[in-house]
Amino acid sequence: MSHHATLETPGSSYVKEVLAHTVARNAGEPEFHQAVQEVLESLALVFDRRPEYRTARILERMLEPERVIMFRVPWQDDQGQAQVNRGFRIEMNSALGPYKGGLRFHASVNLGILKFLAFEQVLKNSLTTLTMGGGKGGSDFDPKGKSDNEVMRFCQSFMTELSRHIGPNTDVPAGDIGVGGREIGYLFGQYKRLRNEFTGVLTGKGLNWGGSLIRPEATGYGAVYFAAEMVATRGETLAGKACIVSGSGNVAQYTIEKLLDLDAKPVSISDSNGFIYDESGIDREKLKFIFKLKNERRGRVKEYADHFKGAVYTPFDSLLDHNPLWSLKAECAFPSATQNEINATDAQNLLKSGVYVISEGANMPTTLDAVKLFLDAGILYAPGKAANAGGVATSGLEMMQNSMRMSWTREEVDKRLHDIMKAIHKSCADTATAFGTPGNYVNGANIAGFLKVADAMMDQGLV
Ligand code: NDP
Repeated sequence: MSHHATLETPGSSYVKEVLAHTVARNAGEPEFHQAVQEVLESLALVFDRRPEYRTARILERMLEPERVIMFRVPWQDDQGQAQVNRGFRIEMNSALGPYKGGLRFHASVNLGILKFLAFEQVLKNSLTTLTMGGGKGGSDFDPKGKSDNEVMRFCQSFMTELSRHIGPNTDVPAGDIGVGGREIGYLFGQYKRLRNEFTGVLTGKGLNWGGSLIRPEATGYGAVYFAAEMVATRGETLAGKACIVSGSGNVAQYTIEKLLDLDAKPVSISDSNGFIYDESGIDREKLKFIFKLKNERRGRVKEYADHFKGAVYTPFDSLLDHNPLWSLKAECAFPSATQNEINATDAQNLLKSGVYVISEGANMPTTLDAVKLFLDAGILYAPGKAANAGGVATSGLEMMQNSMRMSWTREEVDKRLHDIMKAIHKSCADTATAFGTPGNYVNGANIAGFLKVADAMMDQGLV
């Protein structure tokens, strides 16, 4: 089933107009344009049926952030030199609840990337069944090679400004690339000091100061739960299936852990320099090594091959037009590094080597033309805004526990996470069918996510 309407309808010409306007109005933000285009192609089907959203200009409002905050982040490095970075928070949409979404610290961060992430976040949070608006933020600060003290001074300076704009009922940031438990700790400490208030203003906190069990695991576990639901529609399980995993950070690590729980066989990890192929499979012992390597020693994946015989390390070659990681032999793929890591050539290679289950742990890891190839091939393809929603959903569970001043057991949180992923899968599958494109999880996720936000905005008037 093709995912886009071939005939021109009132809905499809309307979304084309909005897209052209969005591109012209937001120059130099290619990732934002890409995220919007993917969603708008699905929404043409909605606007054919619901012209009242057009009249109320719901879409135009959703594409304009409610608020964008940009600020200077000055800090001192270990040599005593002054450094300056740029900080951001995009408060995208609060129709369903307080803004919620991660902070990314990576040299590539800019306004367009954070707007793409914030826009996706709005629809994702809507899918979680919880009540959260959408936001995203971060900095072009590069944590690689920085000492703990430098990271702390940076986080304190970043929070000194951000603290004016966030709060447990206003905006609740979490982690993303480059922001894990260490950074959330420093950020929380500074917020508490400035406001003289111990409150659930961030999620991903440490367990003994307000964090939730399973939050670190949630995004990776959730992406695997979603894949398990997809293969179940074909009467299969993940057991015995070889799985390509990219990245080696938070999402990749817990994707591998859950794959092992379900007797699947993860065979790879990567970082921005290269990838490891371990044909015999990454087992629990090897995963323990990865946890230590990445979270304590903060080293590179290359070391895995020095340590485990039979594993092969391949450095990335910037002259190649594709990533050889996606040519490995497997049935499933879990892209868990970053945006646009799978282009059309990679997609063809994945399909050629027999991959027919793709669950995106990362946000928008697949380019638009590659997504089309997956949809046209009719494989089980779950876009990030559905497959990786377990992370923010469990952040929502952390907020609930903070409000009640109690903490649930590991089993309780994991069960809620699992139930939420099943509910997201069902809502995407049912919505795809209701709009005439059964099996198309892209349409399902975009439309189901949009409808809940749009209806809330209709109820709340022109704000
Ligand atoms: P981490 O910082 O823990 O890990 C990121 C991993 O991806 C590292 O292995 C990193 O390698 C690699 N990577 C980052 N940027 C690039 C790049 N430009 N090119 C190649 N590799 C890169 O981040 P997370 O695991 O938290 O995030 C991974 C993805 O999952 C992101 O897309 C994020 O938005 C998404 N996500 C995360 C959630 C969470 O709860 N943490 C929730 C939902 C989605 P290197 O060390 O070389 O940089």
